[in-house]
Amino acid sequence: MTSAPPRAPAFSLCVYCGSRPGHDPRFAQAAAQVGHWIGARGGQLVYGGGRGGLMGVAADAALAAGGRVLGIIPRDLVEREHAHRGCTELVIVDTMHERKRLMAERSHAFLALPGGIGTFEEFFEAWTWRQLGYLNQPIGLLNLHGYYDALLAFIAHGIAAGFMDPSYLRLIEVGSECQPLLQHLVSAAGWPAPQRTDAI
Ligand code: AMP
Repeated sequence: MTSAPPRAPAFSLCVYCGSRPGHDPRFAQAAAQVGHWIGARGGQLVYGGGRGGLMGVAADAALAAGGRVLGIIPRDLVEREHAHRGCTELVIVDTMHERKRLMAERSHAFLALPGGIGTFEEFFEAWTWRQLGYLNQPIGLLNLHGYYDALLAFIAHGIAAGFMDPSYLRLIEVGSECQPLLQHLVSAAGWPAPQRTDAI
């Protein structure tokens, strides 16, 4: 079910992040910065369609900045994850697989912010699909205030133990600040430089 007909945004960035806000208010600030950055440049935020946590914060900020928000949510999560009825386009799908397929199809790049197991799963799926050649889009990991330090250390452990090729790390861009990472994804996906240069 689609609530609004699609129109072409300048670019589409898929953001994976927590359905909870986390304890540190700086995470929500960063989610708002990411949403604002996308919206202020006429971009589209593609995300899981929930109203809660960092997901809702990013979506609201993108909308408030004049951007387009595409939320994609499985039918059985509409109530549980409080589907965001203010999305420019809310697509309600039958399965989680359909959600992820659509998110991948409609995004030029992916960015993972802090989150929980859903966020981890989405990030790792994008990374593994990229490694296997199922998708080509750039993938970013926002390691905000060291949130992903332990995960990155474990990944280094996996490489040292011989289970991963070090080259896999070149398939993702890890950054600790929103704007440079967003800018990197923009360039890596081949978009023209954004018009707006205001601070986020
Ligand atoms: P979380 O990071 O756990 O707060 O979840 C963030 C988002 O990931 C939520 O919208 C969840 O519905 C979604 N999610 C949870 N599990 C999965 C999964 N296996 N695949 C894709 N998305 C998921």
